[in-house]
Amino acid sequence: MDATFGSNSSRSQVVRQLTLVFSSLLLLILLLGLVSLYRIAESLDARERTQSRFHAESALAQLQKSERNYLVSYAVWQAAYEHLAGRVDRHWAYDEDNLGETLYSTDGYEGVFVLGDDGTHYAMLEGRLSEQGFERYSGSRTQVLQRARQATLQEEQAASGYLVFNGQPALYTAAVIRPPSARPSLPSAGAVLVFVRLLSPKVLGQLGRSAGLSGFAVVAAPQVQADQGRLPLEDSGYALTWHIEQPGADLLETVLLPLALALLIIALVMALCARYAMRASAGMDRSHHALAASKAALQASEARFKAVAEAASDWIWETDAQQNLTYLSARFTELTGHPVERWLQRPISDLFDCDTGQVETWLHGLAGSESTGSLRCQYRDHHEQRRECRIAAKAIIEHKACQGFRGTCTDITDEVAAHAQVQHLSLHDALTGLPNRNKLFRFLEDAGVGELALLMLDLDNFKPINDSLGHPAGDAVLIEVARRLGQVTRDTDLVARLGGDEFVIVLARPGKHDEVDRFCARVVEALKRPITFEQHKVQVGVSLGVVLSAEYAGSPSDLIRYADVALYSAKQAGKHTWRYFSAQLNSALLEKRELERELREGIARGELRLHFQPRYKVDGVTVASAEALVRWQHPRLGLLRPDRFIALAEESDLIVQLGNWVLQEACTLARGWPLAILVSVNMSPAQFSRSDVVRDVAEALRHTGLPAHRLELEITENVMLNDVEGALHTMNALKELGVRLNMDDFGTGYSSLGYLRTYPFDSIKIDKRFVQSLGTSSSDRSVVQAIINLGNAMGMTVTAEGVETAEQLALLCDDQCHEVQGYLLSRPVENRALMQLMAAGEGVDPGVS
Ligand code: C2E
Ligand code: CA
Ligand code: CA
Repeated sequence: MDATFGSNSSRSQVVRQLTLVFSSLLLLILLLGLVSLYRIAESLDARERTQSRFHAESALAQLQKSERNYLVSYAVWQAAYEHLAGRVDRHWAYDEDNLGETLYSTDGYEGVFVLGDDGTHYAMLEGRLSEQGFERYSGSRTQVLQRARQATLQEEQAASGYLVFNGQPALYTAAVIRPPSARPSLPSAGAVLVFVRLLSPKVLGQLGRSAGLSGFAVVAAPQVQADQGRLPLEDSGYALTWHIEQPGADLLETVLLPLALALLIIALVMALCARYAMRASAGMDRSHHALAASKAALQASEARFKAVAEAASDWIWETDAQQNLTYLSARFTELTGHPVERWLQRPISDLFDCDTGQVETWLHGLAGSESTGSLRCQYRDHHEQRRECRIAAKAIIEHKACQGFRGTCTDITDEVAAHAQVQHLSLHDALTGLPNRNKLFRFLEDAGVGELALLMLDLDNFKPINDSLGHPAGDAVLIEVARRLGQVTRDTDLVARLGGDEFVIVLARPGKHDEVDRFCARVVEALKRPITFEQHKVQVGVSLGVVLSAEYAGSPSDLIRYADVALYSAKQAGKHTWRYFSAQLNSALLEKRELERELREGIARGELRLHFQPRYKVDGVTVASAEALVRWQHPRLGLLRPDRFIALAEESDLIVQLGNWVLQEACTLARGWPLAILVSVNMSPAQFSRSDVVRDVAEALRHTGLPAHRLELEITENVMLNDVEGALHTMNALKELGVRLNMDDFGTGYSSLGYLRTYPFDSIKIDKRFVQSLGTSSSDRSVVQAIINLGNAMGMTVTAEGVETAEQLALLCDDQCHEVQGYLLSRPVENRALMQLMAAGEGVDPGVS
């Protein structure tokens, strides 16, 4: 019994000891389990974090890329370069909506800017033009400019990044405005186009969806919560955040409670000797379910990753630390034709080839850093075709060590091919297929110091053909001209079209003047032959300017400028001919430029003067009007007549400044006259095409307070040359202001009498050429009579100008001309003399002044 007892008690001791050992063992195992569970949870979370960060980064990168591409379609554009790079043409940009409201309403850009070193050239905020500079909205102006230019220098098309715009975080893209063909080094100092998009909830929502992540938001950098991913948006002070799933934490949450319960139960069981063990195992069961649930969450997360991977046009790869491929997304097979299994476990450098370095070393270089690199390489698809691609890669860092690499691969074969094609297009003229200006420059640069002749051609009669028969006819003529030029040149020569009706021929080894003369004669003859277009036979001609590099060496643009100078002189020498460049020609041109500069400064300094020449009733006594004639008090050359500088002013917008000065000054002075007679102001056709004359005239009237009916504008027929419809429209608008219109120099212009009926003229002025031969040529007298009859028939006042002799005046009087003007009656005089003349009235002999 004792023994039984003893054995019983020793058994129970053994049992107790066993229980103790067993329970401590169990406790240990449980604790170990707990620790490893915790670790699993931790690495699950870490993995989720890196994956979600990778998706967020890809989404941002993708967004920036597409924004940059879009901007480039605006910035690298010939038309934009012409209208924005220098002085911004707001009409083209905003009114014609080339860079206008649609960018806001359709594309959603809150801000559109053109920036230069000297400030903001163009600003549109929420679709409306703004007069404020870029600085008004953001402090990052210099940075944006710098990065856009850097991008150009590094042969990238555009830069992008983040900034604070109007107090809100925003994405910007910026690029130097340039023609598609310009080499990147050229325009690095040019104007920069900037698009700004606010990172609004809507934009972020879309971005989040494309990344397969939830809760995308942009917050001021410090306010990030624990379960949020965070990517700082450069140094804008903001960060992108999103919600991160925490499968590990979820796992712990679901597992820990039952586990604790289980522990308690185990303790109880141990104490009560295993009777409730079943319950504990039930607890274990529950925790098993929880594990399964979090495993499902993890699987879902992986599925999502896969979905993103498959949706992207690129394919995704991963390697281990030894750079052996461990993962290839399904797109890999679609794009390369290779089965995935063939490449798994093989070194990534077997797949990609790189001209500029080794993939292996490149990846190795990324191992220690957080940054993403990209590399251009090639690979062979399953047809052994070489394809171009760009790979992006980033090290996978876990537990502070590089576990491998992960990245994308973009096939850019088509892009490279398109680039080559654009390259071709950028060197050739689309219409004629001839080399264009860019190719010409390259040719000249390559030719280097070699001897050559550069011939600049300009068609003599092209514009009228284009205007009367339409563009298809113009195109046909240009194509035929190109063909004929091809026939008269050798293979070693170059024929290029610069645009419009301008061509250039470069002759390699041109020989002496007489050889070049023979060649020019051949070209002139070839282009004289009529060209047939549909049933029309048209004839163009050509003028040539020639420069021989043996006589005048220079850079390509020098040579072109020299040839242009020579061309100008050939045209003046009366078309169908050619001229050589010479230093004398050049100095004439330089003189002209100098005079233009002086005129620009002179206008600003107030060197312009007005003289007035009265116009009389045919009785020769009553003053009807005074014509304002501009003079320039040149500091060196004295008082200059308009013939010396009007043509010069017409070549640039100086004519607009000059014309407006004359308008203002004439109206101001006329207000002070003792008689309320008309004041006549000459308007140049160039003012019509370079400015809004209706606005200018209205402005002058309002500003000076002269009643509109006292102002008469003298316009020559040439205003109708370029744009018949537009001129009619403008003149009707001028009439509506209440001013009078006088057709000047009638009989010399190119337009026919038919126009007179359509246009709202009040009077005509017979050109002095007809008047001056009145006594000597009977045919001119009949022209004068015919014009007077015509004027009478249409109810217009007819003036004869340039009356120098009493005989001319008598004849005009006989023919019942209405009004007369000329040296016989009065020369142009200063305003003071004119006022004296008016005050003296009929008592003065007007011929005396
Ligand atoms: P226009 O409009 O035909 O002006 C008449 C020109 O003939 C003036 O020369 C005048 O001095 C000159 N003239 C007047 N009576 C006689 C005469 O009996 N015999 C001769 N031989 N000439 C006479 P001017 O002042 O040198 O002006 C030359 C041209 O310059 C003007 O020709 C006009 O086309 C242009 N012009 C003058 N002022 C302005 C202006 O303010 N704006 C513009 N756009 N053009 C102007
Ligand atoms: Ca005139
Ligand atoms: Ca005239």
